[in-house]
Amino acid sequence: MNGIAMKTPLVEMDGDEMTRILWQWIKDILILPYVDLKTEYYDLGLKHRNDTNDQVTAEAGMATKRLGVAVKCATITPNAARMPEYGLKQMWKSPNGTIRAMLDGTVFREPILVEGIKPFVSVWKKPIVLARHAYGDVYKNTEFKVPGAGKAELVFTDEKGHVTRQTIHDFDGPGIIQGIHNTDGSISSFARSCFTYALDRKIDLWFATKDTISKIYDHRFKDIFQDIFEAEFKARFKEAGIVYFYTLIDDAVARVMRCEGGFLWACKNYDGDVMSDMVASAFGSLAMMTSVLVSPDGFYEYEAAHGTVQRHYYQHLEGKQTSTNSIATIFAWTGALKKRGEIDGLPKLVRFAEMLERASLLTIEEGVMPKELAAMSTIREKRVVHSMEFIDEIRIRLDRLL
Ligand code: NAP
Ligand code: MG
Repeated sequence: MNGIAMKTPLVEMDGDEMTRILWQWIKDILILPYVDLKTEYYDLGLKHRNDTNDQVTAEAGMATKRLGVAVKCATITPNAARMPEYGLKQMWKSPNGTIRAMLDGTVFREPILVEGIKPFVSVWKKPIVLARHAYGDVYKNTEFKVPGAGKAELVFTDEKGHVTRQTIHDFDGPGIIQGIHNTDGSISSFARSCFTYALDRKIDLWFATKDTISKIYDHRFKDIFQDIFEAEFKARFKEAGIVYFYTLIDDAVARVMRCEGGFLWACKNYDGDVMSDMVASAFGSLAMMTSVLVSPDGFYEYEAAHGTVQRHYYQHLEGKQTSTNSIATIFAWTGALKKRGEIDGLPKLVRFAEMLERASLLTIEEGVMPKELAAMSTIREKRVVHSMEFIDEIRIRLDRLL
């Protein structure tokens, strides 16, 4: 078998449910016939995570630090219902959270645009890439329900025992309090990841907070971004012909709705949570949204933005045909193969990945698509296909292109 050669293996993280089924099909039908695929395989399926006391997730994270590029299938984050379903020893943490913490990374999400699927926001012509800070703020808060009248204070004790105190509020009745934090270290990593990604992709970077109201907290984000930009990135941005643009979050939202896209939008943790769902659905479909975790040390982990598509999996188990869209999972593979090819100097591998992306989009543009896309496509001649048929149709076009 004379497939395209690879040098360094990809870290392959297998996953759960319907996406695990797609994973195997994509490999068997769209990759293995063309590439001498080298991977270091980690089974992050929930059963194996449970069998290994989640050690496998840590090992996959360490492998990513060693090899540099990973591709990950969607995985179940267990909730109460999964405990009996999988006979779990513990309600294991989200693998994405574990890996993100190990790589200190930022998640970039980007919609895949295709002819015939129009964004709901009619002025959007190019993708808006969203970067979400994945540490702190309201996601690591301390909350308190104030039972009645009393004084709430912000108290900080330094290493030497010196205490600083500020009044939050003098309550004359019941209420609520929340303590949140972030660290200069985490904000700096976030900033560097965003500047590096914008340079990589040669797109402008927008960042926004509410620094006019939050004069210390949000202002710190603004200052750290500005300082790192001036010291490390200004000259490179100029050379690449791209700009760094800071504005207030409400101004950013208003501008996003009347821009044509084609930039990276860096968001604080909460803004990123809310805005990524807004951007994904306004561009059309969750199944057309890619996601890559980029660490400040230059490690990459590619995945689809959607989950394991549980409902379709149960249909699949009943022997029924499913309408799962494999585009975002295919693009996780092509993203990882392209990055591996760039790093290892393998233009044939890069070209193959580009052709696979082209073939995938061509399939939809020629009117062959899963049900959820057909519902919004403006193409007149449409053929709705099941999960596996869709992958077979992509293969036909891939052979045509290669
Ligand atoms: P989901 O897997 O994203 O699916 C939610 C719904 O969105 C599906 O039921 C389906 O709608 C539609 N959908 C998503 N991806 C699709 C695709 N590729 N093709 C067609 N339709 C698609 O979210 P979920 O069902 O809430 O979560 C399932 C599991 O995924 C959970 O255990 C969760 O923890 C996990 N999860 C993992 C990740 C990750 O690993 N990155 C991310 C999110 C969630 P219809 O049912 O209407 O067809
Ligand atoms: Mg969300």
